[in-house]
Order: sequence, then structure tokens, then C-alpha cells
Amino acid sequence: MDVIYAWAEPSSHGTTTYEILLHADGSLSCNCPGWVFQRPGKPRGCKHTNAYASDARHLHQRYLAGEPLPSRTARPTPPPPSPPSRISRALDFSNE
Ligand SMILES: [Zn+2]
Repeated sequence: MDVIYAWAEPSSHGTTTYEILLHADGSLSCNCPGWVFQRPGKPRGCKHTNAYASDARHLHQRYLAGEPLPSRTARPTPPPPSPPSRISRALDFSNE
């Protein structure tokens, strides 16, 4: 199914980025565990799809009306590299 829009959300631990996808039928999906492992029989959703539900509705209406959608949001910039650990600092002192 066509993806007409996508958002990127860093996970709460900042270790990965989840993608929230808006599909051509107006449905939302996410690749976070909360969405992927939703129990059957319950409406599927996670905090990300909930957070983008109203945005998605507007964008889907524009899509159905044939209006151009804004360009997809860029992936968030990765966090700055963490300061060197003691190990890499120790390696810096070697002459190799
Ligand atoms: Zn999610």
C-alpha cells in the first residue's frame, strides 16, 4: 500500500527512531513495539499514531482532494556523539 506521508520519532531511550507511516487509505502504522505487538482484537495504535492522528486526518483529506502534501519530515538529526569513553580515551594514548 502506498505511503503518502511519514513521520520520524526518536524512541524514548533515543537509541532508535520509529517511523510513523500514513497510508493511502488513511491508516497509520508505526514500527515501535507498542504498535507491532498490539494484542489482537483491540484497536491498533500506539502513542505515536495517537499523537499524529489529527495531523494524519488532515493530510489524508488533502491527499484525497488531490492537493500536494508537504514534503515528508526529515529524519531528526542524530544526537551528538557521546564523549569518548574511558576505553577509547585510553586507546588515544597508544602510539598505534
Ligand atoms: Zn509507535
